Amino acid sequence: GISNDKEDVSLPKAKMSATLMEEISASNIGEYLKYLSSIPNLAGTPQDLEVASWVRDRFIEGGLDEVQLVPYKVLLSYPDMSNPNQVSLLDSSGKVNFTTSGRQTPLFSSEEFSPLVQPNFNAYSANGTVEGELVYANYGRKQDFEYLKSIGIDIRGRIVIARYGAIFRGNIVKSAEDGGALGVILFSDPKDFAPEGRKSVYPNTTRLPGMAVQSGSVLLGYGDPLTPLYPALEGAYRLPEAEAPLPKIPVQPIGYDEAEILLRSISTENPAPEDWQGGLNATYFLGSKFIQRKWSVRLQVRMTHKLATAYNTIGILYGREEPDRYVLIGNHMDSWTLGGIDPASGTSVLVEMARTFGNIKEKSGWRPRRTLMFCGWGAEEYGMIGSYEWAEEHAKVLIQRAVAYINVDSAMEGNYTLKSQTVPSLYSAIREAAKMVPNPNPAEVKAGRKTVFDTWLWANPDLNDPTQPRVGNLGSGSDYTVFSHVLGVPSVDLYYDYQEKAGSYPLYHTLYETYHVVANLMDPGFQFHLAVARLMTELTLDLSESMVLPFDVVSYAHFLERDLDKIESRYTNLAANNGATFEYFRKAVAHFRNSTEYFTDIILPRLDTSNPLAVRKINDQLMQLERGLVDPHGLPGRPEFNHIVFAPSSVDKYSSDTFAGLVDLFKTVGNQTEVEQPNTWRQIKQHLSAISFLIGAAADSLREGF
Ligand code: GLU
Ligand code: CA
Ligand code: ZN
Ligand code: ZN
Repeated sequence: GISNDKEDVSLPKAKMSATLMEEISASNIGEYLKYLSSIPNLAGTPQDLEVASWVRDRFIEGGLDEVQLVPYKVLLSYPDMSNPNQVSLLDSSGKVNFTTSGRQTPLFSSEEFSPLVQPNFNAYSANGTVEGELVYANYGRKQDFEYLKSIGIDIRGRIVIARYGAIFRGNIVKSAEDGGALGVILFSDPKDFAPEGRKSVYPNTTRLPGMAVQSGSVLLGYGDPLTPLYPALEGAYRLPEAEAPLPKIPVQPIGYDEAEILLRSISTENPAPEDWQGGLNATYFLGSKFIQRKWSVRLQVRMTHKLATAYNTIGILYGREEPDRYVLIGNHMDSWTLGGIDPASGTSVLVEMARTFGNIKEKSGWRPRRTLMFCGWGAEEYGMIGSYEWAEEHAKVLIQRAVAYINVDSAMEGNYTLKSQTVPSLYSAIREAAKMVPNPNPAEVKAGRKTVFDTWLWANPDLNDPTQPRVGNLGSGSDYTVFSHVLGVPSVDLYYDYQEKAGSYPLYHTLYETYHVVANLMDPGFQFHLAVARLMTELTLDLSESMVLPFDVVSYAHFLERDLDKIESRYTNLAANNGATFEYFRKAVAHFRNSTEYFTDIILPRLDTSNPLAVRKINDQLMQLERGLVDPHGLPGRPEFNHIVFAPSSVDKYSSDTFAGLVDLFKTVGNQTEVEQPNTWRQIKQHLSAISFLIGAAADSLREGF
């Protein structure tokens, strides 16, 4: 090996796979989950430190080499514990007719009664009291607000009520704010979250009860709002709060029982279109075209924004031969309330993985070729703060040394199929790992689908290649964001998903994400959790132990070709009419394809695997290829995102856009010509040129010289 001061125990990968699979324990996962879901560990609170310390103690006990609790002082946002935010309904004389309770009622387990559970709130909502007529805005997407505008309903001076479930809530608030709304009320429609009706809900099923409320951040920023792009270290410059990207209007989430009362009071003008109707006992009206001051709504929000300490827990198991090459595995630790699914299902898996690798090292002396870093992130729920601050602090080292980042958040949202998002060079690695894991669903095994892969392929085949299961693109909304989209570290996110197409599992971010839901309703015996832990362990082993990194770079070329096809078929004429061309983009992608094929077909087979320097050289090229797709100057108008291929969508933080810089500019320009919008067309040409250059340069990095 390159560095021989570490104990040199190397065993065949297949043997280690069997040993690791044997070691992982479903009952350990269940026990961790029981503890984690008993504590409401909101970021920045003493309970949050307690959980981060508990994870640290598990990492130490598990035998990791080095374990750190890493604090960052960041801007967090809290409701008034004893004075809940309120939404009231006022009649035409201004008399209060009805007021929301502001809290969720305990329904089943003793944990739900914890006095530490905070009242319902959306983090980073503005403070204040506003009063106005209601306008219903469906899912609050861009097209929903455009529709309201198109039929002459003005949201200015009004309060928007919108449904959760289609996009990131912060984007709903931003559109409402930009349109001049006074405030926003968010609710989860029973049509999406309790489709079997009010009788079939928690604690009997996993469906949403009427007073349950989804908490969640409405921040559109990334990481600590006061220290964009740089780590929130002691002495770091912090923006004045007024300059941070926080909403300027109050926002409040409510349950659907309460939403029903409000929706029934909207002026009975302009019934909402068919697909805007939901599952409540009300005809959904949009609201009046005229402000009539009849019945109105008062929104009272009292929040405290303050600097508080969020903790990451980082546990390191140094590699046997390449201790300076890191495979990172992470999940967040903070939760809105009890967090039985989000994040405890993922944290339990992470902790069990760390114990598994640590334990085998203790017992046999074996450690993987490369270093493993187990990362428990703080304050993810507020805006992926812990992972961002840490990655900002260690950016230079991570760019040099990080091989890959494996993210888990909620490990199990349902028992239908595996779901994964990653970059094209990791498609084959995640698919191969899924083939190694026995199917946790007995009904699926009976149907002849023996592995996680088999069900995945059956449930969700890739349309471009129906012999393979579909893998998605990384958007945002969890801790892989900074690694993938800012640093260019190949990242993967995975979990077991539910079948319905609703925006999230029904109890998401509510008080009722309890141990009961997971242990009795979703995953008795924790077999699905076990499958996710095994899958992540196989993938971790592959990335950390394979002599040559398991990156399929030709797959990246295919992806770029397909995506360019789509862009070309959509914009070629428009571009040509305005002096822009895809010619060099096309050439760069072809060059990328030739280079990756040559590397895979000619260079790799010739590699002398007994020569550690030759192996290291090849691996460095593989590892750095993704970094080549990063533009340190950022995307046009979005300096916070550097990856030219993958970025969160500008209108929905959760979803992914490919070549977002280009696509956003094309959206801005619409059908307008170079004469009508010279600046945007100039930017399009400049960005096309940058993209083409970077893809070509990335391809060149696979060669020996220039
Ligand atoms: N995962 C959290 C959520 O979906 C935070 C996401 C974010 O701020 O981007 O609410
Ligand atoms: Ca920062
Ligand atoms: Zn989460
Ligand atoms: Zn969450």
